Amino acid sequence: MSKEPLYLDYNATAPMRPEALEAFRHAVEQTGNASSVHTFGRAARKLVEDARRQIARCIAADPTQVIFVSCGTEANATALGSVINEQEAEKLLVSSVEHPSVLQAFPEKMQTFPVDSNGHVSPTTVRQYLEDAPKGTRVSVMLANNETGTLQPIPEIADEVHAKGGLLHCDAVQALGKIPLSFNELEADMISLSAHKLGGPQGVGALVLRKGLHLEACLRGGGQEGRRRAGTENVAGIAAFAAAVEAATEELSRFQSLESAHREMEETLKGTAPETIVFGADSPRLPNTTCIAMPGVSAELQLMALDLEGIAVSSGSACSSGKVEPSHVLTAMGVDETLAANALRVSSGWASKPSDLERFSQAWLAVYQRQQRAA
Ligand code: PLP
Repeated sequence: MSKEPLYLDYNATAPMRPEALEAFRHAVEQTGNASSVHTFGRAARKLVEDARRQIARCIAADPTQVIFVSCGTEANATALGSVINEQEAEKLLVSSVEHPSVLQAFPEKMQTFPVDSNGHVSPTTVRQYLEDAPKGTRVSVMLANNETGTLQPIPEIADEVHAKGGLLHCDAVQALGKIPLSFNELEADMISLSAHKLGGPQGVGALVLRKGLHLEACLRGGGQEGRRRAGTENVAGIAAFAAAVEAATEELSRFQSLESAHREMEETLKGTAPETIVFGADSPRLPNTTCIAMPGVSAELQLMALDLEGIAVSSGSACSSGKVEPSHVLTAMGVDETLAANALRVSSGWASKPSDLERFSQAWLAVYQRQQRAA
């Protein structure tokens, strides 16, 4: 088997798209602070405003709604922690499968609500949790889960939240560039985006706000981003982010063939190793994500064996302070700790080919068969 490196960890970060690299190079070679009034500054400002228009067009929003920030984590923290319409959020209601940047943003205010065994959020659950919540409560539900790819019914959840006078934030970091994304159709009040998950650079993201929503900056100082986020803009990063979003939007159909390859791969694995478990399989999912467990074989062992074959995927466990903990997402879905410790995430992207998933299947099945013989 070929030992050529094979990257299947796009949900962690994607390689830079050539269009993004070119835009980055072009912008980084120019000198100029986008807030300066001289020619250099105006050239930098043009790059930022062109990028804002490009991104807004791709997600069916207005450029004035797009605020550039340093990453998805900052977009999430701003959405949950900033003052909006003079109203402090006393309580934050979030699903139990949110990214840690949401779950750990303001733990003292946070209340989580459960998901079903597919990681799916039911709008009825949201309604029940909102029953006693104060008006203006902020709710946060992600569009696509980073570990399982499970997609959430955001417009239906938005209806429940708005009926109770609340605000809905949606972390759309994993969805952008993989499925069609329209800010207006989502009906959320705020969405978070991050460039590096779709082939833009690391360290740049955006928070998109519903029109008429006034947000007081978390980072204060300069008047950048319409006084909604102080700090000199990352001009090259922003230009490359927009180039990546545009390229991804034009190439969304690429994900259809990847989706078929993922589903075929899941069938192949289940066909040969019937005890294989595909998490979130009964829910709408991202086209590029498969989260599977090989019962009885630790994710670390699988990762190392695959790495020897040149294949990069990731485990469903989170490693914090040197301790490998079971994934909070799988735990919230009711998966027991032992099985969660056997889970791998395989995520493809813009440069992947359907044959990459076949190569993964063969390598994974070889690990499985070796374990069967050893047992
Ligand atoms: N939200 C989700 C769903 C993610 O997967 C990630 C990154 O892993 C983030 C937010 C954070 O994005 P960033 O790495 O840009 O801070």
